[in-house]
Amino acid sequence: MKDCLFCMISSKKINTDIVFEDKKILAFRDISPQAPVHILLIPKMHISTLNDLTPKNIEIAGHLIYNATKLAKMEDIAKNGYRTVFNCNEWGGQTIYHLHLHLLGNRKFKWPPG
Ligand code: AMP
Ligand code: ZN
Repeated sequence: MKDCLFCMISSKKINTDIVFEDKKILAFRDISPQAPVHILLIPKMHISTLNDLTPKNIEIAGHLIYNATKLAKMEDIAKNGYRTVFNCNEWGGQTIYHLHLHLLGNRKFKWPPG
């Protein structure tokens, strides 16, 4: 989608620190990390928010989550534990309207989140 930052990243118009890529998704390091490990996993196809998942595209959510678990192992944060987050819309803290899964680790997180 035109003017979507993460579509530009997925089409390589903007450079990022890519850690994983396949036909359907891309994973790259967050530009403003909130933990020592902070990776974003995005579908290559534009989906704005979690609310836009449908029976036709829902498999992408499992694909993002499964690959987050694989990256957690690769980054050596799986055993201690980590956090995965989909922020949805304004009150959920979403600032970029292209679906993304945050993978955060290598520090201890608090609950409930702020
Ligand atoms: P959210 O607030 O859930 O929409 O998360 C958006 C995330 O994208 C934030 O953690 C930003 O730091 C991150 N971000 C914004 N621009 C870039 C970029 N060019 N490369 C990597 N991460 C980015
Ligand atoms: Zn997009």
